[in-house]
Amino acid sequence: MPRAAERWKQLERIRGGDAGLSALTISHVGTVGAVALDSGGRLAAATSTGGMTGKRYHRIGDSPIIGAGTYADDRSCAVSATGHGEIFIRAAVAHDICSRMRFGGRTLNQAVHEVVLEELPALQGEGGVIAIDAKGEIAMEFNSEGMFRASRRERQEPVVAIYRI
Ligand code: ASP
Repeated sequence: MPRAAERWKQLERIRGGDAGLSALTISHVGTVGAVALDSGGRLAAATSTGGMTGKRYHRIGDSPIIGAGTYADDRSCAVSATGHGEIFIRAAVAHDICSRMRFGGRTLNQAVHEVVLEELPALQGEGGVIAIDAKGEIAMEFNSEGMFRASRRERQEPVVAIYRI
């Protein structure tokens, strides 16, 4: 089905209160985030999204807000997020993960775990992040039903998953 027609049907289902899936799960279908560490030790993050299905006109989600849905700092990590943008903005999710590493001495996995599985649920924020640190550690964590994700390291098999593995 053409993309526009598919999205129109999703919107109709949400408007009709008969989404079948949660609005969040539906809204996630089009989200693309990427994080990378290059051979020179530089970290980068990018996030592209159509926002949440049924959003208000002029709404700006967390994706383009540096520190909320997207953030990279060579001294700690790079993070790209997907989920309820309003909550991710409030919690400054991507920057918080980097700060926990930089100032709190957490590993990438600890920082991601604390923010995604403790801070966000406490604010009723659903979603997840992909992240990579300056040592090349990768974390892909979510508190939603699933998260489309993949990772690749030099000389290793790629990892591709949707649900928990
Ligand atoms: N975080 C995005 C927003 O709130 C939605 C998504 O793509 O995950 O706009």
